[in-house]
Order: sequence, then structure tokens, then C-alpha cells
Amino acid sequence: MEVVMEVVEQLKSWIEVGKESDFPIQNIPFGIFKTPGGSARAATRIGDTVIDLNALAQQGFLDGLDIDHGIFRYETLNPFMALGRPVCRKVRQRIAEIFEAGNPILRDDAEWQADILYPLHSVQMLMPVHVGDYTDFYSSIEHATNVGIMFRDAANALFPNWKHLPVGYHGRSSSIVVSGTDIYRPNGQTKSDTSETPDFGPSKQVDFELEMAFITCTATGLGQPVPVETAEDHIFGMVIFNDLSARDIQKWEYVPLGPFLAKNFGSVISPWVVTLDAMEPFRIAGPQQDPVVLPYLRSDKPHNFDVQLEVFIRPENQQEQLVCRSNYRYMYWNLAQQLAHQTVNGCNINVGDMYASGTISGPNPGTQGSMLEIAWKGTRPVRMADGSERKFINDLDTVIMRGYCVKENLRIGFGEVVTKILPAIPYQS
Ligand code: MN
Repeated sequence: MEVVMEVVEQLKSWIEVGKESDFPIQNIPFGIFKTPGGSARAATRIGDTVIDLNALAQQGFLDGLDIDHGIFRYETLNPFMALGRPVCRKVRQRIAEIFEAGNPILRDDAEWQADILYPLHSVQMLMPVHVGDYTDFYSSIEHATNVGIMFRDAANALFPNWKHLPVGYHGRSSSIVVSGTDIYRPNGQTKSDTSETPDFGPSKQVDFELEMAFITCTATGLGQPVPVETAEDHIFGMVIFNDLSARDIQKWEYVPLGPFLAKNFGSVISPWVVTLDAMEPFRIAGPQQDPVVLPYLRSDKPHNFDVQLEVFIRPENQQEQLVCRSNYRYMYWNLAQQLAHQTVNGCNINVGDMYASGTISGPNPGTQGSMLEIAWKGTRPVRMADGSERKFINDLDTVIMRGYCVKENLRIGFGEVVTKILPAIPYQS
């Protein structure tokens, strides 16, 4: 049974998939899960059913694909990702065949199903990859312009380098965690404009940053740049990324070397890694780049993707409230250019490295990807349903980010990133 997923948009699974689900049989993302008393292992998902890939492999369903029987028994996806995109493609293809509506082999075998399938609510999703290195770019022109206007002025909003290279910085991987992890409000140094000396205490300006991140699946050597035209061969897939930021700490510390403790107290990702193959139907061209970029950043192919993004704030014991609706397609610098730039100096990359886009803001009101922009440095607070106002995120607020692609009858999504902010832990020396 040959199934070419990218063209078979009508393909149906024998597993029930709701109309609004991000996870039809065309998605087949990868994640790491555990069941009560069980060990961490790899899974995919159709609808709200989690499919144990280790069990699937052990039962022989993935035989003949040139993969080790135990490739899905690890607590990260790194060993599987390292096999590369062509192997991943064959595995997704096989999974689509097994779960296609007309295939009775697993569909009609309750015993096998009991070993392989789990309702989503019965499992815990874990960090899907071991992140070696983490880069955060700054690639949305609307976000960079908004921040530039707020902290400098409209005439000098973008620094002279911004349209010539994808600006970024090396972040910290230890504090990248999976959706559902609560994050403590950070303590740190801040300095008000009216004070001569800094204060110490809980940040008063904890913010979200709506981002997406891609994950690499190859290891290159020092001195081996990744060309823009083949950059996507090195990219396994993407997740939604909430890059929590403490604006008051950031403002005091960032000169001259950039963000530091304002950005590394917790960044939260969605648990399912969606492959670039699954995103292929939603590929589009990005914004026109003017001036023309240097040759090593030039590509004739479209490298943007139409991913609708939403951010909600849910105050404690209340309903969630939409605060932002943006789209990954707004990115001025695309992922292929980011990876080409990251490596052009000979910097090597590794399996599991993560590269976040930078805050994704759009051109219209309501499309700004951070509270800093939405409330415009606190001057335009957001009114919540209970009458309270938000300039930034309050203690016990939960931030929810969702992302999905829609085209005709096909919807493929990333699920959600859910992050609750807890009160700061009092600092004790
Ligand atoms: Mn960021």
C-alpha cells in the first residue's frame, strides 16, 4: 500500500480525528512520553490518541525500514533524528499506511492496540529532544521595529545591520522546558530611570515572546558552512516556543553584550515536533527583502510557512482570553537563511540544536507577539474579562500559545504551549 502523504489530503485514519484537531494522519509528529510506571519513550499522535513508537517497532510494524528496533526506546528523539530526514520520511510513510482507514492489520486487533495506543489524557508528555545549543534570532521586522521605536526612536528603529544579516544571540539550553512546566518569576537586578543604583527583587515585567523554533538533525564539522539552498536538509522539524523574558532585568543588563539573565529563567516549547515534510503544503514566499542580501543568504525557493499563531492569557480560575493573533509567514529572515548565517563562519551544528525565530509580530494591530508591544511599554494596558489590567504577566497567569496551518480541508498544527507563572521564590543567601 503506497501512500504519498503530501498529495493525499483526503487520507483518513481509522483513529478518530476531530474536525479542529491539529493531528490528522497527515501530521505524524514526534514526541517523548511516559505512562504511569513506564519509562520515557518516543511517540506520535493521531487525533487524541498517542501511539507508542517503541511498541510499534517491537511488534515488527516498522520492519524493513533500515532502522534499529530500539531506536524509539530512548528518552529523547536525538538518536532517531540523527538518522536524517529521508529515514524519517520513510517512517512517517509507514505509520500513515498502518493507520490508514482501510488497513485492518492493527485496526482489527484489540490486543496489539492495548500495547500500542494510549488516550492522550493518560500520558505525560516530556521534553522531546536533548537541546545541545540554543540560538535566538530577532527576525521579525515588525517586532524589531516596534522595540526599536520604544527604546530609541522611529528614525533609528532598526540598526544598520538588521536588513543585511539575521541578528541573533547564543542563549542557554538548560532552561528550555516542555509545555506544562510552571515557571517562577525571576529575581534579579533592575534599575529605574530615576534611581542612581540598581534594586534587587522579583521582576515586575515578566513577558512572553511568541516564537517558533526549528531543530537540527545533523552534525557538521568546524569550518563547514551549511549553504542556504540545502539548509532545510539539516532541519528535522519545528515547535512553538515561548521565550519568557523579564523586561526590567533586560533593560538594565543588556548593554553591551545583549540579553542574559532576562531570558534564561525558562523558555517553553510545545511537546510535538512537527516535521518540515508535514508543513510542506503550507510553504510560501516570505516578504520581499530590500536591499538585496549578500549571495550566501540568497535563495530562489520560498522558505516561509503559513502558520497561524495565537496567544491567550488565562488568569487563575478564569477563562482564557486572546491577546495576540500572528503568523510565522511574517518572518523577514527565514529558517534557511538563519541556519546559513549561523554556520557561514564555520560554526558547527549538532543533532538537537534549537534555533528560535525571535518574537513573531505582524503588521496589524492585534498581531504583536509580546506584551511589551501589545501594551506598548505599559502605556496601553490590556483589559481582562474580570476588569483587571495587564501590562505584563501576573503571578498565577497561564500563557497559552497555539499554532496551526489550514488549507482547504487540511489542518496541521503544533498543539499548544501552556506556561503558568508562579510567584518568585524569596532569595536567601
Ligand atoms: Mn526571544
